[in-house]
Amino acid sequence: MASAQKPLSFFENVSASFNTAAQFTEHPKGLLEQIKACNSVYAFQFPVRTEKGYDVISGWRAEHSHHKLPVKGGIRYAEEVNEDEVMALAALMTYKCALVDVPFGGAKGGIKINPKKYTVEQLEHITRRYTAELIRKNFIGPGIDVPAPDYGTGPREMAWIADTYSAFNPSQIDSLACVTGKPVSQGGIRGRKEATGRGLFYGLREACSQEEDMKRQGLTKGLEGKKIIVQGLGNVGYYAAKFCCEGGAILVGLVEYDGAIYNPKGLDLEAVVQHRKEKGTILNFPGATSIAKREQGLEQECDILIPAALENQITEQNAGKIKAKIIAEGANGPTTAAADSILLERKVMVIPDMYLNAGGVTVSYFEWLKNLSHVRFGRMGKRFEQTAFEKMLRAVETATGKAFTDTERTSIAHGADEIDLVNSGLEETMVNAYNEIRAIWRGNTKTPDLRTAAYINAINKIAVSYMELGIFP
Ligand code: GLU
Repeated sequence: MASAQKPLSFFENVSASFNTAAQFTEHPKGLLEQIKACNSVYAFQFPVRTEKGYDVISGWRAEHSHHKLPVKGGIRYAEEVNEDEVMALAALMTYKCALVDVPFGGAKGGIKINPKKYTVEQLEHITRRYTAELIRKNFIGPGIDVPAPDYGTGPREMAWIADTYSAFNPSQIDSLACVTGKPVSQGGIRGRKEATGRGLFYGLREACSQEEDMKRQGLTKGLEGKKIIVQGLGNVGYYAAKFCCEGGAILVGLVEYDGAIYNPKGLDLEAVVQHRKEKGTILNFPGATSIAKREQGLEQECDILIPAALENQITEQNAGKIKAKIIAEGANGPTTAAADSILLERKVMVIPDMYLNAGGVTVSYFEWLKNLSHVRFGRMGKRFEQTAFEKMLRAVETATGKAFTDTERTSIAHGADEIDLVNSGLEETMVNAYNEIRAIWRGNTKTPDLRTAAYINAINKIAVSYMELGIFP
């Protein structure tokens, strides 16, 4: 439990949630301590030449757990990056991968910079130098540690990392698998960019499909018609909002770093994006109320609040004021352990980050598999499937004497493309993982919430790995 005087650090918050869940397991103390600990942290500094001279840049890579290899997790570029944060995010990656059966340990990297303050050339230099540092200490490689995008990074940075790694390892045939989230032309996979937001939608839709759980929240079954507020209009927030709206939810509020907008009748997401492009802010969007204090944006009336920005957004200060009945965590660590206790008391249902935002790493896993197999998903089977479906359609037509329309024919006799397979694998993963966690939550009346259930599930899976390695009999 957090003390009122000194707020817990991010890593301490993750450990606090871990400890709560560990009490529901029967694993030996030593094993639990090993699972919780962050195995290795590499911290380093390097210079970058600027117009004014040199900046000394701080970088980190934390590998939280090596129970499975490679370890996996994004790289963050932000001024707030620090060692504790990188360790906490690496720990969340370990639990996240276990929950969605992605066979990796957890890791995270960070560079303490405001990317907006550097030119593209300088960012490229920083990224390539950071990669060289990781290579030097064996903190990157297809079977060792595989970074990906996170806050402040994207496909462009991943392409620089892959290119640098390949240049240092010219004879390594699998070198492209050293990083995921690459542009499709550089060995990336279709659907990776949208994956976290899409995965959030699949997870939230699954949670809302449980009538009993919705009733407990005073809500009806299904995502359709539910009012949502999204914090953060970055990659995760934008796609989460887009897919949830396509699934029937109504976007009533958006919260950004400089304030919020709210309209109980609904906001047009694309129009807001266009407005921000023109004005540099979401504020003063026509027809919506502008709220200068972003904290107040989170406290507006809605059914579901989706924090999809940074950590520590829902704390003991504002947890009592949140009106949402469901919090769907798109960001990593948006709710502190102290806020969790308040939300639990207030019967707010929290769908935890390490499950709900696992869509990104799930599709990263598919990208890694694609890179190792050196073939695009769907390439071998698509035409074969299509021909088989067409034969079936013709057989049905002969048997019934009725012809299918062209639209029916194209939609039924369609062989799977890469994007179809990626989305189907993602949906299957998110739905299964939710039901596993929910079974723990509802199966044992003492499990207080979904976060604890998720930790229990992750701990159990990691414990099996350690036991099968023979480290803990
Ligand atoms: N940075 C993302 C996360 O926090 C993705 C990690 C990955 O794809 O490895 O889950």
